[in-house]
Order: sequence, then C-alpha cells, then structure tokens
Amino acid sequence: MNLRIGYGVDVHRLGESSELIIGGVKIPSELGAIGHSDADVLLHAICDALLGAANLRDIGYHFSDTDPKYKGIDSKLLLSEVVSLVKSKGYRTVNIDSTVVLETPKLNPHIPEMQSIIAEILDLDTDAVSIKATTHEKVDSFGEKRAIKAYAACLLIGI
Ligand code: MG
Repeated sequence: MNLRIGYGVDVHRLGESSELIIGGVKIPSELGAIGHSDADVLLHAICDALLGAANLRDIGYHFSDTDPKYKGIDSKLLLSEVVSLVKSKGYRTVNIDSTVVLETPKLNPHIPEMQSIIAEILDLDTDAVSIKATTHEKVDSFGEKRAIKAYAACLLIGI
C-alpha cells in the first residue's frame, strides 16, 4: 500500500486585539491569536502535516506570511488549497489526529463543529478527524496564556 505519514506543528502568540479562530470555529475568548492570516493554529498544523506527508515543503513556502494576498485570510481556504496540492501529487487523506495546547477557554464544546468543518474540506467522515485539547499546566508561554500551539499527524494513501 502506498501510505505516507506526516506531522505538523504551529504556534501563534495571543493578544487582546485579535479573534480566536481554531479549526475554522470562532471561539469566544478574551484573548485571540495573532498572525498574518486568521491565525488558525489548528488548520495550520494540519496543513503542514498534509504537506509533509506528501513531501511538498511547508505552509510558509506556499503561503508567505509577508504576502499581502494572505493578510487576514480564512485558513479554511489555505487548507483547501493544500488538499488540492496533495491530490495533485496523487494522495488522499485517510485520517487526522491533532492536539491543541491552550490554557483557556475550554475547547471541548467546540470540537464537534471543528471536526465537521475539517472533515468537509478533506472530504472525510468526521470519525477520521480527531481533535484533542490540553492545557499547559499554567507553565511557560502556553500555560501563561501568551501563546497557543497545535500538533497534527496525518496518514495519506495513494489515489
Ligand atoms: Mg500559523
């Protein structure tokens, strides 16, 4: 079987003047993620996992964070573009597993909606999109609410 594994990591700083968008869902929060795009840390980690599995470099290579074209862009569009790139190379996604590291707020109530959004973009069953959340036990930048991080792993199979 033509299987390929991939993983991705992303980090964004948190601040008061931004929105918090994770997995395509706007989360009510005092602090938001800061970035050139909409700073969706989970979708960015998933993009890098998919690109890595297909050996297609990384998200910054395809969507430069200095290009005005991507200022404030909806990361769902970036993920769609990544899915097209991966498909062009002859692969489709089997499943995703991911973890978001964030002290507050609790993400669990929003996870089903994130799963639906990501599954639709990847043309997968929601059961193939795992999203986990964890705190950073109040330590370091993530625990001190100064940053958010996401990890993602994926499996691709040849079309
Ligand atoms: Mg990012």
